[in-house]
Amino acid sequence: MLRVGFTGWRGMVGSVLLERMREENDFAGIEPMFFSTSNVGGAAPQEARDGGALKDAKNLRELASCEVLLSCHGGDYTTEIYGALRKNGWKGFWMDAASTLRMSDDAVIVLDPVNADVIRDGLARGVRTFTGGNCTVSLMLMAVGGLFRARLVEWMTTMTYQAASGAGAAKMMELVRQMECLTDPTRATPSQNALEVERMMIEAQRALSLPTKEFGAPLAGSLLPWIDRDMPGGQTREEWKGMAEASKIMGLEPPVPIDGICVRVGTMRCHSQGLCIKLSKNVPLADVEQILSNSNPWVRLIPNERESSIRCLTPTAVSGTLNVAIGRLHKLKLGPEFLGAFTVGDQLLWGAAEPLRRMLGILREHVGN
Ligand code: NAP
Repeated sequence: MLRVGFTGWRGMVGSVLLERMREENDFAGIEPMFFSTSNVGGAAPQEARDGGALKDAKNLRELASCEVLLSCHGGDYTTEIYGALRKNGWKGFWMDAASTLRMSDDAVIVLDPVNADVIRDGLARGVRTFTGGNCTVSLMLMAVGGLFRARLVEWMTTMTYQAASGAGAAKMMELVRQMECLTDPTRATPSQNALEVERMMIEAQRALSLPTKEFGAPLAGSLLPWIDRDMPGGQTREEWKGMAEASKIMGLEPPVPIDGICVRVGTMRCHSQGLCIKLSKNVPLADVEQILSNSNPWVRLIPNERESSIRCLTPTAVSGTLNVAIGRLHKLKLGPEFLGAFTVGDQLLWGAAEPLRRMLGILREHVGN
């Protein structure tokens, strides 16, 4: 049985990965080992076969005893551990959710409903490093990858609305605490005057006592138009990933220009994106819809009308499901080759855990387990 070491399984991505693996009975086919950076010796999840104590996620010898290592930690962990393991001669399969290795020539970014051919070629070439893509990029490709595959996209802008949980467990918890602080005054001094309530809320948002250690600013009742660090030319790194990762995932040569503004909003889970796609020719809307709905089994085409949009094309409707909803599809007034669309997907599922879970299954088949 394939020995698989899990690290970072306690975080947002790791917890969802474990949940999905339990649902699909994936643990039955592997020998799991659980590691921790913060609770070595503590109780491991019930699936641990070796007595249930957590192993040290910094112990290179114990890590190297695994044929597959699957890390759901952040990039700092990958930076510290991956190079050292390879330097010591570890030849196992490394999988992670971080951005550190994504653009490396030695790594394939996995999203098998979109790039199964790239993954297969990688395995045949002997690639042993597989990373999940950026969540907004993976969700965008799950939604409109069919148009890229049909070579119909000349360029695209993507304006994102990204959930707090996309930044990790601690940040999502801070958003909830901020929400409590915002509503506390309205409970203490109830008022039916909307302007008065709005003033209480703004005051609470601007109060020094509002917890902002994680986000650095109020997010509840507001938004933050900056994600990740800055890059040359005015982009943020989150925005830079759009074109770089999408081109690598789909093997697009030459790369298709993709750019936009990435924004953190006060939703709990699910990333949404408003897309403007410049088509390479005037394709009828019905043909676009057919290409999209045939591109993978998880795409859900939502009719471009009010009721369906407010019921089915929202984070509330999509959270916790594998559906990738795309709607508001229409030709923009800019011209017949300009397509507008809005898409919503669960960034913890198709944006992070699900491609890794499925890659583990592909690896099991590949090594004949
Ligand atoms: P996270 O929730 O912050 O968890 C990462 C690790 O932080 C945990 O495994 C845990 O490690 C530690 N941790 C610290 N405080 C915690 C708390 N209060 N609750 C749970 N764990 C806590 O990070 P993440 O969002 O899962 O992201 C992991 C990686 O995936 C990052 O590289 C991220 O960029 C990438 N990613 C995230 C998403 C997303 O939607 N969140 C999507 C795509 C990719 P120990 O148990 O060892 O202490």
